[in-house]
Amino acid sequence: MMRILAIIILMFAVTECKPQSKDTEMKEHKHNPYYSRTDTTHLNVTDAEWKKILPAEVYRVARESGTEYPFTGEYWDSEAKGTYYCAVCGNKLFRSTAKFASSCGWPSFFESVNPDAVNYWPDNSMGMSRIEVECARCDSHLGHIFDDGPKPTGKRYCMNSIVLDFEPDGK
Ligand SMILES: [Zn+2]
Repeated sequence: MMRILAIIILMFAVTECKPQSKDTEMKEHKHNPYYSRTDTTHLNVTDAEWKKILPAEVYRVARESGTEYPFTGEYWDSEAKGTYYCAVCGNKLFRSTAKFASSCGWPSFFESVNPDAVNYWPDNSMGMSRIEVECARCDSHLGHIFDDGPKPTGKRYCMNSIVLDFEPDGK
């Protein structure tokens, strides 16, 4: 009996560790009534509500200004053509044409898809003076922006993969 139980637990553990497929991702958004790639209305959703809806790691980065470990996210070295959306609310954020190879270990862009896609806030936490980047629709933390990016903007939007949803072109 114990052996069967152990096998069942192991099966669950293996399933949990599998990288999430796009189907799983879309299913997750089905439990998120605020997620939309077309509605641009600003959201006023409490953290308590987001905590019920979002996967724990998305919540930690998006709502508690967490940072994923460098070189661990899904998109840091991705060169695929497509569009990046906010994983919390579906807001369109970046195009792959503005993505560049950065050695920092996080997906990096030199501009957002449009000036209204994100907001900027001074962030003096962790003993550093930085500019935080938030999704303009849901106010979720996405990452930071720095002045060491490539032309034409000279900016580097240093984002967390976990709060981005990627949709390849042609789908
Ligand atoms: Zn958002």
